Amino acid sequence: FPELQTVTDTVTFHARRTPEATAVECEGRTVSYRALDRESSRAAHALLTAGLSTGSRVAYLGKESELYYELLFACAKSGTVLVPVNWRLTTPEVDHILRDSGSELLFVEEEFLAAVPERAALPALRDVVLVEAGGPPGTGYAAWRAPHPDVPPAVATGPESPVAQLYTSGTTGLPKGVVLAHRSFFRVRDALAGAGLDWIDWRPGDRSLIGIPGFHVGGLWWAVQGFGAGVTNVSLRMFTSHDAVRLIRDGGVTTACVVPAMLQMILAEPGTGPEDFRTLRKTVYGGSPISESLLTRGIEVLGCDFAQIYGLTETGNTAVCLPPQDHVVGSPRLTAAGRPYPGVRVRIVGEDGTGLPPGEVGEVHLHTPAAMLGYWELKDATDRTLVDGWVRTGDAGYLDPDGYLYICDRIKDTVIVAGENVYPAEVENALCAHPAVAEAAVIGVPHDRWGEAVHACVVLRPGHRATARELMLALRDRVAGFKIPTSYEFIDRVPRNPSGKTLRRALRERYWAGRERQVN
Ligand code: ATP
Repeated sequence: FPELQTVTDTVTFHARRTPEATAVECEGRTVSYRALDRESSRAAHALLTAGLSTGSRVAYLGKESELYYELLFACAKSGTVLVPVNWRLTTPEVDHILRDSGSELLFVEEEFLAAVPERAALPALRDVVLVEAGGPPGTGYAAWRAPHPDVPPAVATGPESPVAQLYTSGTTGLPKGVVLAHRSFFRVRDALAGAGLDWIDWRPGDRSLIGIPGFHVGGLWWAVQGFGAGVTNVSLRMFTSHDAVRLIRDGGVTTACVVPAMLQMILAEPGTGPEDFRTLRKTVYGGSPISESLLTRGIEVLGCDFAQIYGLTETGNTAVCLPPQDHVVGSPRLTAAGRPYPGVRVRIVGEDGTGLPPGEVGEVHLHTPAAMLGYWELKDATDRTLVDGWVRTGDAGYLDPDGYLYICDRIKDTVIVAGENVYPAEVENALCAHPAVAEAAVIGVPHDRWGEAVHACVVLRPGHRATARELMLALRDRVAGFKIPTSYEFIDRVPRNPSGKTLRRALRERYWAGRERQVN
């Protein structure tokens, strides 16, 4: 559909083409493309009537539902910018986002009202509207948008207009608002279509599970791809492996987008086997490193095509992809993040700022037409991250001679043992290959002589046992001696953020209290 240039175009195009087709399904409720188009137009008028104008920020604090996506289209049609807020955040974190974004309206589900700071503390906020998906039509959000016309307002927006402001989860510091334009959701798709390389390969009648939450770039990007293809987006209020398996098994899901931690939970769901995934044709995954053993198990149990995506909020989600044909069990390619899309460039940069040849590890820089407009009101941070169109990712990685990118880890998570770099993901991958290990997180802890030592936090599989010594011995065949953790702790679960990333900073905290950690 080459005519899709803005988020708005997706819903208006399919409302004309297949008006009765279901656009979103959530908890058994369905909304057709026509209804989504009409109701989002009403909401767009309501936003403007409330005093908002082009560029105004509109915050949403709630779980996934059809109304969240309706609001996305309402923002797109009114030229305002959606600021989704992760509902797991605490009041001070919500306060930071509402205050920093200068959101003028807040849409909130009742159960999260308690997390909303005092109105007096938010001078830009004009109003708070209660949202209740499936609730009575005469109240809250439904009543608020009802009196308005069901045709879009006359507001000019284009591919360069901002449409969403997503806060990075803050695994590397205070969350920053990444401003994405409409084009961020389409440029990769257009390049793929132009090159005849449509790896998502949407088909009529597809039912697409939005596993990654829509307040995260991965979920929002996936949803917009689904709307663009005119398929049914199956929205989970919140991800649980039980609901995900039920929807795939009983709800005929054909395509799904998940983070590795979700795949792990799906595979661990009691009583689940290959027969539960018969309708699934493609699983798209990304957002954090995946261990080879998890990916292999996923391929074997789910029995469908897999595609990996790599990117950042700052690159408008995926810039690099490992397509289905590279998912051959046992092949070294399985540990790659993939190759850049047509029109995307990757370079690996050393500490002195020069480009590095294949095989050498340095910082990954990405040049993509889907890159962010910038960080909201943070010019210095924008100038440090987005340099001449290149996004400095903060990830350590290398290219192979065929142009495949391998991500080692976040540079800030690299453990430096007496001058040797140890990438936690590699060691975690090796630990997860042990039959007793369900999950692992590797961090650097202070060491008097080496600067840092490698420390492993390990979650054992239910009913399995392993000692630190056994794990150390098992690692000897898999990684070099200096990478083998010298201390181990057995924990119940690995702390993760909502997009599945290991919160290594949280694990490191108690070891580094009062000490400065050097990062390269
Ligand atoms: P912050 O920047 O505050 O840490 P965040 O972690 O939420 O926030 P995102 O933009 O969501 O930021 O995540 C981008 C990062 O996720 C990448 O820089 C990379 O470290 C990791 N990542 C994403 N996809 C992959 C992948 N396929 N393989 C390995 N790592 C990945």
